[in-house]
Amino acid sequence: MRQILYFLLLISTSILAQDQGARNCSFVASKLSFDRNVQIEITNVVTIPVHIIVVHKDNEQIGQGRNLTDAQIISQFSVLNQDFRRLNPDTNNTPSEFLPVAADCMIEFCLADTDPDGNPTNGITRYVYNSNNVTENYLDQTIKPATIWNPDYYLNIWTARISDDGYAYMPSDGVPSYMDGVVVRDTYFGFGGSAQLPFDRGHMATHEIGHYLGLFHTWGPFSGCTIGDGISDTPDQQNYYYDCPSYPQNSCGSSDMFMNYMDYVDDACLNLFTEGQKIAMHNTIQNGRPGLLQSYGCSSVDPISITEINIKENKKLIKSINVFGKEISKHTKNQILFYIYNDGSVEKMFFN
Ligand SMILES: [Zn+2]
Repeated sequence: MRQILYFLLLISTSILAQDQGARNCSFVASKLSFDRNVQIEITNVVTIPVHIIVVHKDNEQIGQGRNLTDAQIISQFSVLNQDFRRLNPDTNNTPSEFLPVAADCMIEFCLADTDPDGNPTNGITRYVYNSNNVTENYLDQTIKPATIWNPDYYLNIWTARISDDGYAYMPSDGVPSYMDGVVVRDTYFGFGGSAQLPFDRGHMATHEIGHYLGLFHTWGPFSGCTIGDGISDTPDQQNYYYDCPSYPQNSCGSSDMFMNYMDYVDDACLNLFTEGQKIAMHNTIQNGRPGLLQSYGCSSVDPISITEINIKENKKLIKSINVFGKEISKHTKNQILFYIYNDGSVEKMFFN
């Protein structure tokens, strides 16, 4: 049954990708093994270490074509840390009816300064692929396995000259770990600089990371006013929008939130995530990507384990001990730890 669902979703996204002017995202929705909507109290900002892989041709020096400059890459982080903290300069463009649900998502991103072996790094890998375009299949099956850093502890983002504009995978059983992460077309990565209209403000990565953290498109996996995106405070929406629509637009009996980062409109017209999406993303980190909370990828970020999110209705980590029963607050490489929770359960963790 699930395979049939995947097939249908593939068809629906392919059809969407044929539209001119819309954000061509080939994200394929999948069912998550946990409830994204469990109410949790989020008391701390979660910082996600990021590894950037720039796929470029051999004859492109840094700053030419696909070979993005470090500055272009860093500009993307400024955008992400605005969008996920609601520090974007255009919050005043959010219609007043949506202001009550506009969220500071309490998620930030850092360019990794420590690689999986514990060595210093600038967080950027440059990979040569001498073809004008790269298919998503080749990227997933060949380039990703050759370049990925442990996706339990890093968000891997590839920039490449793909035919779509971007895609990402949710944490789910059906996706091999070597394919996990986010892909953004190089021409739409970062703010200004080499980024091209109409996706020149860095929101393509914001959108794809939204998928990576468990969000569907605002109209849901299917068009029509059927099942929506499963988030209560994003209004039901018939289909996606593109270009920069005038406000308001209505469908499914309500005003549509087409300026949500998970819609397809131009970068200049996107400006919010909602409180419901924030909860869904933190539930996804907690249940689908808990390693991100324990990562040593950014030395400025102290990994304080999964207690970082204070869960009201779920189990809570009390302490972690090693095989000798000694309490350990920070793990090292190749270490086995046992996590002891307040409900009496114990979980064996291996850190490689
Ligand atoms: Zn998308």
